[in-house]
Amino acid sequence: MHILKPQHQTPSVMNCPMLQIVQGCTHNKCHFCDIFRDVSFCKSPMHEIEEDLDELARIIRPNQQRINLTGGNPYALSCKQLVPILELVKQKLPSITSFGGFCRIADIKNKTDDELALLASYGVNDLSIGAESGYDPALSFMEKGHTAADIVEQGQRMHKAGIDFTFFYLVGMAGAGAGQENAIATAKAYSAAGPGHVLIVCITPTKGWPLAKDIQAGLWEPPSEIEMIEEIRTFVEHLDCKTYINCSHDTDIVRFEGMVPKDQQNMLLLIDDRLPKINPLAARKMREMIHKARFAG
Ligand code: SF4
Repeated sequence: MHILKPQHQTPSVMNCPMLQIVQGCTHNKCHFCDIFRDVSFCKSPMHEIEEDLDELARIIRPNQQRINLTGGNPYALSCKQLVPILELVKQKLPSITSFGGFCRIADIKNKTDDELALLASYGVNDLSIGAESGYDPALSFMEKGHTAADIVEQGQRMHKAGIDFTFFYLVGMAGAGAGQENAIATAKAYSAAGPGHVLIVCITPTKGWPLAKDIQAGLWEPPSEIEMIEEIRTFVEHLDCKTYINCSHDTDIVRFEGMVPKDQQNMLLLIDDRLPKINPLAARKMREMIHKARFAG
């Protein structure tokens, strides 16, 4: 298989077959990411895609329905480029009826309503999106490439097209002292966009991220472990849409999962119970060890 970089998958589709159709990220600017820094974005050659599909045809389960397109942000490709690939997948792997994978808010924005509906008709129905935050100052500082208004508008357009989506929420992205503003603004934007799932990840700055330089220059300060848990609590409390929250990533200190609104109160009670028992130093040390993190300049 042609897989250039280790590919991330969302937990619910961890064992899903992957097909690399692009290399790199069209944006490549987020301060908290260095995955594709050394890769220029390009579409994979069609012969590589065909070779990988032939290999997948030999190894996937005969009733496998779902495949994830990968390589960075595969849905950055135009509809004209994507449709022949979706058709080829269906021809080589007839059991596939559903396409997922990572997608940017900008990749949705760049498509018309008709194009989104066309992609949905081919089975593009479950996208994983690094929305990260609905707090504009944090989105702007981190050069995320979208605003809270974009998140709401593109979320609503995906609903209209019949495309389900998961949003990541990067807790702590606004830096020390701004967790509450980040939580409230993010809950507001996500509630209006209505993701089917929200994946909560706590910011864990690594040495390779551009953010390491921001920290060194005194431009951004990491929030404490306690501030991040309080941020998560406020986010859960203010969410006002039907969605499933997954807060069990290995960067998460307090771990839980549940539906909003059904389990909302129980999730808040769980956080309230755990919060006073957290040892912030131990939690930080554990995250430093797992992620080779750099919290200080
Ligand atoms: S859009 Fe995603 S892959 Fe691209 S730089 Fe940002 S976080 Fe990294």
